[in-house]
Amino acid sequence: MQIELLQANEIRESIIARRFTAVDVVTALFDRIKEVEPKVQAYITLCEEKALERAKEIDKKIAAGEPVGRLAGVPIAIKDNICTDGTLTTCASKMLGDFVPPYDATVIKKLLKEDAIIIGKTNMDEFAMGSSTENSSFKTTKNPWDLTRVPGGSSGGSAAVVAAGLSPISLGSDTGGSIRQPAAFCGVVGFKPTYGIVSRFGLIAFGSSLDQIGPFSKSVTDAALTLEVIQGEDSLDSTSYKGEIKSDYLSTLADGVKGMKIGVPKEFFQSSLDEEISDSIKQSIQVLKDLGAEVSEISLPITEEGLSAYYIISSAEASSNLARFDGVRYGYRPEEFSNIDDLMVKSRTEAFGKEVKRRIMLGTYALSSGYYDAYYNRAHKLKKKIKEEFKKAFDEYDVILSPTTPTVAFKCGEKSEDPLSMYLADIYTVNANLAGIPAISIPCALSKEGLPIGLQILGPHFGEEKILKAAYALEQELKVSTLAPVQ
Ligand code: GLN
Repeated sequence: MQIELLQANEIRESIIARRFTAVDVVTALFDRIKEVEPKVQAYITLCEEKALERAKEIDKKIAAGEPVGRLAGVPIAIKDNICTDGTLTTCASKMLGDFVPPYDATVIKKLLKEDAIIIGKTNMDEFAMGSSTENSSFKTTKNPWDLTRVPGGSSGGSAAVVAAGLSPISLGSDTGGSIRQPAAFCGVVGFKPTYGIVSRFGLIAFGSSLDQIGPFSKSVTDAALTLEVIQGEDSLDSTSYKGEIKSDYLSTLADGVKGMKIGVPKEFFQSSLDEEISDSIKQSIQVLKDLGAEVSEISLPITEEGLSAYYIISSAEASSNLARFDGVRYGYRPEEFSNIDDLMVKSRTEAFGKEVKRRIMLGTYALSSGYYDAYYNRAHKLKKKIKEEFKKAFDEYDVILSPTTPTVAFKCGEKSEDPLSMYLADIYTVNANLAGIPAISIPCALSKEGLPIGLQILGPHFGEEKILKAAYALEQELKVSTLAPVQ
């Protein structure tokens, strides 16, 4: 048995049953990391010593018969835009190249409370802007299924570590698809929860009205388990949801889809969609029908405009959020400058990459007087309409099903000089963020070339339970491997 390749729930159970120890798991995992990571390049920082120390503490607790948490001894990798006390957190940017946060994000506190073990911080597109992880200032992560291809983005590192067996679970952030799109490209499960149910305290902000933290995993069970741990109200995040939310997804996971009403929007199956992906999704629809779900074609006409609204709103919010990186308070500062203006200009021009600058300019333009109504306000009106359109659909349907991406993972360098074609990679994912609804991507097939194909299931606000049930039912039937044959 390769213990480093087990799922999170299997690791926890085995450690508690004393079949092996947390130290065994961490040691085996780092052995694999030493062999595979040089090919995949998914981590920015590895925390081997700290991880071993924590594993020893957890083993001690178990040996002493003390109670342990729901992720006891489970290794987890964290996207490098989530603050970790005492561990470098760079956002894959030169701007934060030496930033060591003095505090933990709320999600990190919650993971540690449940005895998870942080393995390292993962590579990403700089400040989470991108769809291929090629915008990282430090390295290019490779897709573990084909090292000449991208892992998707912006959470490409977090998706790749799970697919390559370099961590059983990981956390990413999703502003317009950055969990689901890389999950689809790397053939793993990626879940963006309802806006507000997972605290974003300690997540370095990109588009605050859209950002959401969520898990990557090898199975729907592990996604449910991780979500149970990280979700919940947080007084440190003013957008955190204050009402009741379901706290137990695992007990209803296997309830099945009999009688479940599933809508399939016809707009998501147009000519830009790869034929192989379209066929695979249709096969999955048939599986769901065979399991007793009622599947119907629906129409969501306005969602087609989602992409433009998303890029205006997210860039506008980014231009404001990133104003704090000015070389004065913290972040990169050039050696020489003549006055404060020069300091700010040099800091920002030298430390931000091309895509980040592009978004700041786009966002500032959209917010400037004279253009505010034409762009930002219009985008907001669209956002509202998209939300209403989904709400109407969910009055009739339990969940909505679609492809996650229009193509399989593309080649490294293929789109890096063409931002517009890169933006199109998010065409099916951005709407969930605009509407604030939850959505999961699960692997549903492999293409002829052996590349993963992702299927997306969207639910109404706080509809996590329904989504997980449908995803679990499909996963049990489809049995697609989530471990990439890294070569
Ligand atoms: N790829 C999208 C973008 O570049 C989404 C990013 C994200 O979700 N963080 O903005």
